[in-house]
Amino acid sequence: MRAARFDYLEPRDLDEALAALSEHSPDAVAAAGGTDLLRDLRQQKRRPSLVISLARIPVLSGVRSADDGGLLVGPMTTMAALASDPLVADLAPALAEAAGHMGSPQVRNRATIGGNLCNARPCADTAPPVIVHGARLQLSSKEGIREVEAESFITGPGATLREPHELLTAIQLPPSGVAASSAFETLTNRKAVEITITSATAWLELEGDLVKGASICLGSVGPRPMPGPSGAAVLLGVEPTPERIAQAASATVLDASPIDDFRGSADYRRHLVEVLTRRALTRALARARRRARGGDIAEAQGGVA
Ligand SMILES: Cc1cc2nc3c(=O)[nH]c(=O)nc-3n(C[C@H](O)[C@H](O)[C@H](O)COP(=O)(O)OP(=O)(O)OC[C@H]3O[C@@H](n4cnc5c(N)ncnc54)[C@H](O)[C@@H]3O)c2cc1C
Repeated sequence: MRAARFDYLEPRDLDEALAALSEHSPDAVAAAGGTDLLRDLRQQKRRPSLVISLARIPVLSGVRSADDGGLLVGPMTTMAALASDPLVADLAPALAEAAGHMGSPQVRNRATIGGNLCNARPCADTAPPVIVHGARLQLSSKEGIREVEAESFITGPGATLREPHELLTAIQLPPSGVAASSAFETLTNRKAVEITITSATAWLELEGDLVKGASICLGSVGPRPMPGPSGAAVLLGVEPTPERIAQAASATVLDASPIDDFRGSADYRRHLVEVLTRRALTRALARARRRARGGDIAEAQGGVA
């Protein structure tokens, strides 16, 4: 099948893109790397009158430190760039891992984090890391800028809080505590070019020997990335022994509502939630302890033996 005819615009700055989006909304669509969009256009699942490329708007790309010590990630940052960025590896290693696992080298060189979040599939690999790190998303339109929590952004398969005339213009990760870190675990039917069967992402912050903060998010086990508050609650304020981590992983199964499909049954996915959550918590804990001891970036990237 061929895409229906559309006009194509390549603005050089954000104001031009927002003006065009506003003028043609809801018949205009933004294009980032195109890895999801081109398929939808070819299959005529979408028939916009105007496609607005974001590729030539420099302010939308790249990762930099925010004034508060957090991270500012441009939505046009590719998976390859995220996976190899030293700031991301240090402050949000789960995000680097998720980006590095996606698709294939070709896909990672085109696919962007903004496209992954806005496309809003339950299996979107970068959504759980962004959520466990407590990110806020900046949505811009001709009228101005608003912020939403990453956790509430994706509302269902393919659905988000973004209005058609808005663009996602930044992903803001808050500063990481000195004793905090994260890890991403996934299982796929093969090692590349395959959608995740189930993923689990964990973030832990320590205070001395105790857990001060915990956050878990699951992929592909519900209509949207599924937060895991039941498991996180098991760990808050206690020493994260292997037994506690196993209890937390087991409790997280309550937060999943998987379905059967050709990639795996709901029962198998519940089993994976427990296994992958335990692994993610264990690696996040090891990294948080290393950061607390002042371990360097390279060590933090290595995870547990
Ligand atoms: C072979 C292959 C393998 C893949 N493997 C994986 C995988 O392992 N894991 C995974 O999660 N995904 C995977 N994907 C899906 C896809 O690559 C990702 O979702 C990718 O991150 C989408 O980014 P993009 O830049 O290509 O988005 P595009 O296709 O350009 O856009 C996707 C959607 O987001 C909208 N959009 C993009 N940027 C913005 C913005 N800044 N503001 C508002 N709206 C915006 C577009 O209008 C469109 O609706 C795979 C795809 C392919 C083709």
